Parts: sequence; structure tokens; C-alpha cells
Amino acid sequence: MDDNTFISNDLFDLNDEVSVLLWIPNSDNNSIADYSRKRYELKKYACLSFAKKLIQKNLIPIFRSGKKLEDIVIEEIKNNDIQKVVLRFPIYNSEKQMIKKISDSYPHLDIKYITLANLINQKTFIQHYGFPKSFTKFRKIVEKNNLILEPVDTIRSFKKLNNNIIKNNKIDKIRDVENFTIKNFLFYMKKSLPTYKQTRDQLYGNNISSGLSIPLSIGTISPRVVFKLIKIFEKNIVSNQSTYWLKFELLWREYFKLLSYHYGSNIFNTSGIFNQKEYPSCGIANNLGNFPKLDDDLINSINNQLTQTGYISNRARQIFSSYLIYNKKLNWLAGALYFKKNLIDYDTEINFCNWMYIAGLGTDPRGGRVFNLDKQKSLYDNDYVYRKKWNN
Ligand SMILES: Cc1cc2nc3c(=O)[nH]c(=O)nc-3n(C[C@H](O)[C@H](O)[C@H](O)COP(=O)(O)OP(=O)(O)OC[C@H]3O[C@@H](n4cnc5c(N)ncnc54)[C@H](O)[C@@H]3O)c2cc1C
Repeated sequence: MDDNTFISNDLFDLNDEVSVLLWIPNSDNNSIADYSRKRYELKKYACLSFAKKLIQKNLIPIFRSGKKLEDIVIEEIKNNDIQKVVLRFPIYNSEKQMIKKISDSYPHLDIKYITLANLINQKTFIQHYGFPKSFTKFRKIVEKNNLILEPVDTIRSFKKLNNNIIKNNKIDKIRDVENFTIKNFLFYMKKSLPTYKQTRDQLYGNNISSGLSIPLSIGTISPRVVFKLIKIFEKNIVSNQSTYWLKFELLWREYFKLLSYHYGSNIFNTSGIFNQKEYPSCGIANNLGNFPKLDDDLINSINNQLTQTGYISNRARQIFSSYLIYNKKLNWLAGALYFKKNLIDYDTEINFCNWMYIAGLGTDPRGGRVFNLDKQKSLYDNDYVYRKKWNN
């Protein structure tokens, strides 16, 4: 709800009657077979929690499930005589096709496109600087020109709703996940942020990193709010290399969001965003469905942790993706889809761009990352603690 660009103050008039469409695919819908079941349940809960807050602001949550999203939007426009819809600015072909279908059905509909709560204004960034071909270039531009945006003000409250809308609702029992997320992050900052840089590269351990990926991917906190909280922490408690490093990692996230905004559906290209003719050692000829046997104790442990919990550390993600691409010659897209199916914090842009980066088909100046398994074991699990726990 906080910093939610879809309900920002300047989008609506207080006399407007605003409904927020909350679409959840049916649990037996084929499309959710591509996603982690845990992620699905978590998103569903977050959706209910969001709906509760909408009601408090006199906004109307409309739950729909099943069917295709575009069909549901078209149906709602027809049934409720809707005059204006607010949609995310489309970047992928599937989104563009969906919007075409909606505007073809209602040529006079007022469609307003907005961007999500990004750290920077993507459109003006590209206009001024073009797309930076390396992360370092991007980071330096953002830092030098102070481009991080502030969170937006969201709608205070609309005119009172007809009470029937909210009667008979079991929603009272739902917890406030947004509040829960903020509390968790404040606790993390106090306890562990000052040592983040020393711990975030580890393979395992409690509080080695911020744990923000799940709430960020589900949308129960925005990166701008996180950035603001870190700055307050730096001003009032501690400011050191670690506090800077968390902002640095959030800029990585932003870089991949900008890359996807700029290159759209090309981030799903087997040959990468630049359509490289010469591939590095990753075998792009391998079938997507042909998943290799994992014949290494560390890789098997990472896979077990991933499939059993839905979460693995950044170190584990790097080792695992490098192994599949370079040791097993797996098409990187198959790896990215495997993560999509298992990660509880799955994020389209971060996931696909990281896989592409490791495969050397993105913007890595070093042309890909090969992780030597023996070296990784001796550096990060020399005493077998991780493998003893997960290699079962
Ligand atoms: C092959 C591969 C696939 C990945 N897939 C995903 C994914 O689907 N969803 C996801 O959220 N992260 C993904 N990551 C990035 C990273 O591993 C996770 O964000 C991080 O491990 C999550 O834990 P955390 O929030 O505690 O991390 P922290 O170290 O505390 O990082 C804080 C935040 O910074 C951002 N961040 C950190 N590392 C990266 C990175 N390498 N690239 C972009 N942003 C980053 C994330 O938003 C993260 O939540 C992937 C990394 C690799 C190598």
C-alpha cells in the first residue's frame, strides 16, 4: 500500500469510485504449474492482506481467479461501465498483446500507463544517458546525479463505500504483511546490517543477507521505501561499507529492471540481448526439457535446499547456475525456468538477467562467470556443514 504507484495521489479524484482488480489464477490452472507452490500461497495471502488495507481506504478490491487476465479485465469494463483503467507500462510482448486486445475491444477507454515503484525514472534515464552497457557505468551515473526517487504519496481516503461490499468478509483475520515486512527489516537493520558486506557472500547461515527478496518480489515493500529506511539508519545509527553495500545490491536489481525495460522480451532470447553469434562454452543446443543429472555433493545439496525451502543464497545461485551452464552444458533458459518453478522469491527480471549474465550473454564485461566447484567448496563449505545438512 505504501509507495504503491497504482494508487498514487495524483492519479485519481477523491470523488472517483476506484476498484482494484486482484487476479489470482486458480490453483489448478496450468500456468501456476510453472511457479513455486509456496510462492503461490504466499502471494494469495499477501493479496488478501492488501485487500484489507484497500477497504480501509474505501477502495473496492475485486477478486477474480481462473480465466485469462485480459478476459477478466474486458469483462469488468463491460459489467461496470468502467471509463478509465490504470495498467503497468507494458514491456514484454505478452503484455503488449494483452493491452491490444483490451483497447481493440474498447477503443475509447482511457488507459493510463504507469511504472512500478522503481528506484529511478527509467524513461528519462534512457533518454538522457542511453542504456549503460555495464553495471558500473549505470551505478556511477545514478550515484553522481542523485537519481534515486522518493516513495510516492498514496491516496488518503475515498468517499465512504456502500457497507454491503465489505460485509460477510472473513478478511478480518488476515494479518498485515506489509507491517510485518517493515518490522522484520527494521529488526534486520539493527541486528545485522552493519556487517552485511562481510556475510552476504556466504553459502549458508542466519541473517547473512537482508531477506528482502521475498517481500520485494511479492510487492509487500518497495525498493524506494527500503532505500529511504537505509538512509535514515545511516544518518541516525551507523553508516559504513555494509550499509552502502545493501544499497549497491539494490542498484543491481534496478539495473536489471532497466535492462528489461530497454530490451523487453529479448531478455528471453537464447542467444542473449545482443543476439550473440558466438556463444561461450554454454551449450545452447541442449534441449530445454533435458535436465541433467546432478552428480556433485555441493550441487545436490543446493538443489535439495532449493526444492525443499524455495530459497538459496546468492552464492548458491551463482554456483548452481555456473555448474548447469558450463559443467553440464545446459541451455541457460532451462536453468532460469527451473529457478522460476522453485524459487519463492522468483522475479522475472532479476532471474533471467542473472542467468544470462552468468552465461556471458548479457552485459558482463568479463563475458560470463565460471565458478570452480572445488574452490567454492574449500572457500565456502570447507568443514562440510552445509553439505552435511542438505546432501541427503
Ligand atoms: C542465477 C541467479 C538467479 C537469481 N534469481 C533471483 C530471483 O528470481 N529473484 C530475486 O529476488 N533474486 C534473484 N537472484 C539475486 C540474488 O541471489 C537474490 O536476490 C538474493 O540472494 C536474495 O536474498 P536477499 O534478499 O537476502 O539478498 P541481499 O543480499 O540482502 O540483497 C538485497 C536485495 O538486493 C537485490 N539483489 C541482490 N543480489 C542481486 C543480484 N545478483 N541481482 C539483482 N538484484 C540483486 C535483491 O533485490 C535483494 O533482495 C538471482 C541470482 C542469481 C545468480
